[in-house]
Amino acid sequence: MGAKRGDLFIIAAPSGGGKTSLVSGLFKRDPRLVLSVSLTTRSARPGEVDGQQYRFVSVAEFEQMVTNGELMEYARVFDHYYGTHRESVKQHLLEDRDVILEIDWQGARQVREIFPDCCAIFIIPPSLKILRERLTRRGQDSASVIQRRMQDAQAEISHWNEFEQLVVNDDFDSALEELIAIINDHRKGIPHQGNRNGQILAQRLGNG
Ligand code: 5GP
Repeated sequence: MGAKRGDLFIIAAPSGGGKTSLVSGLFKRDPRLVLSVSLTTRSARPGEVDGQQYRFVSVAEFEQMVTNGELMEYARVFDHYYGTHRESVKQHLLEDRDVILEIDWQGARQVREIFPDCCAIFIIPPSLKILRERLTRRGQDSASVIQRRMQDAQAEISHWNEFEQLVVNDDFDSALEELIAIINDHRKGIPHQGNRNGQILAQRLGNG
């Protein structure tokens, strides 16, 4: 993509992993960060506003953008398309902003091909039981959707080792501090100490 200035961070997590709250906590603490608003073909959930959480588009619009080569990455997740618009990310980076991509492991793989020096962070829940509780408490999806999301979450977690950094979202405040430390270390080019216990946990959760 050339002429990159800001840093690129990927944050992935299984649905219900607590990523959204952590990422909004991050933005309150770090004004250099900007969120890339993804495109999706899924319908908006109650409370979601077009252009804020996502840009909601039709399948035809999405496929046209793919054909035009407008997407930096895209994937099919939970029967819908999700993707990142290339130009808007490029613009943020040129403005020397650090961009957060909230995308899944398939998208992370594609972005790493283009930006090998990006920092890919994976957030995991402390247990599958807590993941189920979070998905249920959110009250936005039916029981069958939750069941499907649990299976998809485990499949997603099995890709944990494709990410440089792992954060266990057990306690919100400490997970947020860990995220901030990872981001700051990456900016300074300092290797961040890996989370050995998190790796053992991720391996266990991903295997079911
Ligand atoms: P949700 O529908 O719960 O908001 O998101 C479902 C999944 O889609 C999450 O794992 C999320 O990270 C992923 N996702 C959201 N936006 C993008 C995107 O632009 N690209 C890719 N590859 N995945 C995305």
